[in-house]
Amino acid sequence: MEDHKPKLLIVDDEKINLDILTGLLSQEYRTVIAKDGVQALKRLETVPLPDLVLLDVTMPGMDGFEICRRMKANLLTHNIPVIFVTSRTGEDDETLGFDVGAVDYITKPFHPAIVRARVRTHVELKRRGDILERLSSLDPLTGIANRRRFDEFLNFEWNRSVRTGHTLSLVLIDVDYFKLFNDNYGHGKGDRCLIQVARALSKPTQRTMDLVSRYGGEEFACILPETGVEGALAVAERLRSTVEELDIPHAFSTVVPHVTISLGVATTIPTKEKTFCGLIERADRALYCAKDQGRNRTVLAE
Ligand code: GH3
Ligand code: MG
Ligand code: MG
Repeated sequence: MEDHKPKLLIVDDEKINLDILTGLLSQEYRTVIAKDGVQALKRLETVPLPDLVLLDVTMPGMDGFEICRRMKANLLTHNIPVIFVTSRTGEDDETLGFDVGAVDYITKPFHPAIVRARVRTHVELKRRGDILERLSSLDPLTGIANRRRFDEFLNFEWNRSVRTGHTLSLVLIDVDYFKLFNDNYGHGKGDRCLIQVARALSKPTQRTMDLVSRYGGEEFACILPETGVEGALAVAERLRSTVEELDIPHAFSTVVPHVTISLGVATTIPTKEKTFCGLIERADRALYCAKDQGRNRTVLAE
């Protein structure tokens, strides 16, 4: 099936080279071309991103080394393998190619079978890396993002907001009286409850930018990029009511006889002077207030 083929981006300023490489690789791969650096960087903003980039070095405007440098500096593209395909055969050029982050360096004129073999190797390595990356970002019990992914995502969104000046919100969530649930219904039922809660929490955040994760045992977190106080409170209330609507019996809760959550919301405009730890602390204090005020509610941090 066409869509399951790995995607290659081929960058070269000469049409004949693009034609040769495309002809060589389009059976096995979905190929996309770019004629210069500007076009290449534009293609690298379009999802799905390529699984590998074949990059010419000498091009008018931005050269291949610079394109590669920029790819490696960007979190969204830094793990896409780059292979230089170039007529520059000098050792210094080749060394520079590896220094800027390429995985391979092929000189022209090339042997078609060798290009195909090298591309295949690096596409396969990339595929394995992607699988590992996905596994290491997911919580095994609930299948949603784990703490590692939360840290990485918050750090990334924090730095992006510092640059753009956007507001960033965080919602910390904790299941009410979950120890009593476990102690009375057993650990197995406790696990199933957490799975259901995680699924419910993943539903109402409609924007693809948002990240719901398992923060700790029975604690979850929701990162809301480009979201202010009003939006964050609306999301929190939706999360709270969605969990309540699951109607999981909890006869030992003193709030209501089913499973509920408490939520702490904090919002900030990130700057270089602040850290995201402050945002987490404020959301955590607000969550503590929600517990203190009777649970099954949302409190906004001051
Ligand atoms: P509060 O309303 O104040 O949040 O009370 P609580 O009982 O929910 O809070 P506490 O922190 O005392 O207890 C959390 C419990 O969550 C303790 C532990 O048994 C349970 N828990 C944590 N992780 C897991 C898990 O992965 N599976 C199960 N089944 N239980 C877990
Ligand atoms: Mg807790
Ligand atoms: Mg709890």
